[in-house]
Amino acid sequence: MFRKINLLALLLVMTMTVTAQAKMKALIIEGQNNHGVWPKTTQMMKGYLEATGLFSVEIVTTSKSGTDPDFAPVFADYDVVVSNYNGAPWPEVTQKSFIDYIKAGGGFVVVHAANNAFGNWKEYNEAIGLGGWGGRNEKSGPYIYVNAAGKLIRDTTPGRGGNHGAQHPFIVTIRDRKHPVTKGMPGQWLHEKDELYDLLRGPAENMTVLATAYGSKEFGGTGRHEPMIFTVDYGKGRVFHTPMGHGIYSQECVGFITTLQRGVEWAATGKVTQKIPKDFPTVDKVSKRPSGK
Ligand code: ZN
Repeated sequence: MFRKINLLALLLVMTMTVTAQAKMKALIIEGQNNHGVWPKTTQMMKGYLEATGLFSVEIVTTSKSGTDPDFAPVFADYDVVVSNYNGAPWPEVTQKSFIDYIKAGGGFVVVHAANNAFGNWKEYNEAIGLGGWGGRNEKSGPYIYVNAAGKLIRDTTPGRGGNHGAQHPFIVTIRDRKHPVTKGMPGQWLHEKDELYDLLRGPAENMTVLATAYGSKEFGGTGRHEPMIFTVDYGKGRVFHTPMGHGIYSQECVGFITTLQRGVEWAATGKVTQKIPKDFPTVDKVSKRPSGK
């Protein structure tokens, strides 16, 4: 009898160990950002990823300003890397190891102002597809938007890259309902108040637009359907990119949370095993989960 119990206990411990080991490893990069809320949003995103039960999450923080000579994560140790970083260039050796990591099949996730970083880093811009500010212009690549007929437009008109109007809640329109990240989401849902990034530009190669948001002129937008959830195939790697997530309130949106959780899983594995939560927003009602202080 004792033996049986011991055996069961051993099996239980083994199962738990296997489960723990089966968690994927995610790394969030932070340390410099023109968004002062970054220490909080990093913690929020860490919590969202851990809540899936799929990830163990580590955070790496650079020096507060300038190129951090000691910033050298071993990217290859992770299944997916999430950037909440918008600051000085990384050391060259780190830049190279980062690109090598994605090209070899690593996952990368770009959130909001992380696409403002590194305007002059060619490979980074190839990986993220589109970016804004940081000196970006027609040399960075075309503007990308979806026209009224639903066609993806590559617009090479000269001009700066990166802009947004006044913050407001806006509707996200799913353009690809079969992709693992957006499958099962309502065709349109209302995102909590955020900056609606427009006029992003970049190489936009091997890019798939999964969702757009209409930049209403009433709020200073472009009058175009701007990419709001998209992916880039880069080498053997998968890049997931959402320009959403300006404020704490924006990242409390269940639409943002779900998009992040699913996007990170997809970047890590190419699949999504998570269900769309019951409190997901509808087209006329935002849904938030308070993040506390
Ligand atoms: Zn912002």
